[in-house]
Amino acid sequence: MEKQIKTAEILCVGTELLLGDIVNTNAAFLSQRLAELGIHVYRHTAVGDNPERLKRALDAAFAEADLVITSGGLGPTYDDLTKETVAAYFGREMEMHEESLFAIRSYFERTGRVMTKNNEKQAMMPKGAIVFPNHYGTAPSLAIEGEGKTAIMLPGPPGELTRIFKEEVLPYLEQRHGTVLVSKNIHIFGMGESAVEEKLADIMTEAKNPTVAPYCKEGEVRLRVTAESHSRESAAQMCDEVIEKIRSTEVGKFIYGVDVDSLENAAVEFLRKNGLTLATAESCTGGLISKRITDIAGCSDVFLGGCVTYSNDAKEKLLGVAADTLKKYGAVSEQTAAEMARGVRERLGADIGVSATGIAGPSGGSAEKPVGTVFIGISTERGERVRRLSLSSMRSREYIRMVSVANAYDMVLKAFE
Ligand code: ATP
Ligand code: MG
Repeated sequence: MEKQIKTAEILCVGTELLLGDIVNTNAAFLSQRLAELGIHVYRHTAVGDNPERLKRALDAAFAEADLVITSGGLGPTYDDLTKETVAAYFGREMEMHEESLFAIRSYFERTGRVMTKNNEKQAMMPKGAIVFPNHYGTAPSLAIEGEGKTAIMLPGPPGELTRIFKEEVLPYLEQRHGTVLVSKNIHIFGMGESAVEEKLADIMTEAKNPTVAPYCKEGEVRLRVTAESHSRESAAQMCDEVIEKIRSTEVGKFIYGVDVDSLENAAVEFLRKNGLTLATAESCTGGLISKRITDIAGCSDVFLGGCVTYSNDAKEKLLGVAADTLKKYGAVSEQTAAEMARGVRERLGADIGVSATGIAGPSGGSAEKPVGTVFIGISTERGERVRRLSLSSMRSREYIRMVSVANAYDMVLKAFE
């Protein structure tokens, strides 16, 4: 058994990366997974399809890291040289790996394609390599261990890389690591990051195992609770204890879920649990509220539909907003937001109507209603409520819309409170 892995470098191979033709999503994915394992990623590197430069990059990577994970260059063509170059680095010869050859042959039979001589090359493996099967393509993945160093090579296509990582590499690394790490995410909305940190200062500085780390995502705060233990069950249990502790603080009432993915996911769960339906009326968000809920497969039992009403005319015709209201208070107003939410709820026969009308910028603001002013309306049989957001006018249009959507779902969650 090789020594424990503590540090890593991610080394992506492909000229396309250097030309900016593709974005390095594999590096981001691998970094996230390694962080969850408690392995420190020291560096990301990208090199072209060139064996000399790849060799120098390996030298530099192993000068600091216990583990190097490569992505790309495992295909059948002449420019795919990762495996050969890493094998040479470890001083290993290549030999035919019969199981891989068999697997590649059956892959071609299954997909009804013709196998070329080149594909046989993909079954050549460095002596003593640990081979991870690839059920999603022809490039096998592998690890080489030697002299306290480990190299793991994964194929470039993200669909293959992510699945092989989860199915094969993760168990391998967990075993190499000796312990398992379990992370749970606490989702918080309506309290800023610094306020959360202040309220939880004691818990956060005291906690070594589990650790509690805050991070911001899409206008909300998340706390990642990570525990290390000998088994998944006990690590999960340790996380749950800290989560309960956090729930009992002032932060507790701003927690909308644990490992729920997003506010809209929490909203769908809430609607479903209570047998409620939702309809949306959007102006400044341009359909983003309905887009986000329809990103969730199977939401049709709770989401009825919505209208994008950008002009005053559309607000009147489709939602029945009174011409007087628009004239007197303007399209961006509490009154209009309320009538939009009620209009869509009544017209679609939903239990909850939610609306957004505001000024997303960069132009269109006034002294009274600057860019970043958004009204979120909610309508139920109990009546209407409106939340006014005053976001910084320096924020981008995209940000203002995203935070508006987050507030809309937060209000859905609280519709009957
Ligand atoms: P193949 O058998 O498909 O050739 P490979 O391991 O040789 O596999 P590459 O040829 O390096 O992989 O890359 C194949 C494709 O995978 C690229 O065209 C690109 O679309 C995608 N890809 C490669 N590297 C990355 C990366 N770092 N991030 C995101 N996508 C990538
Ligand atoms: Mg290739």
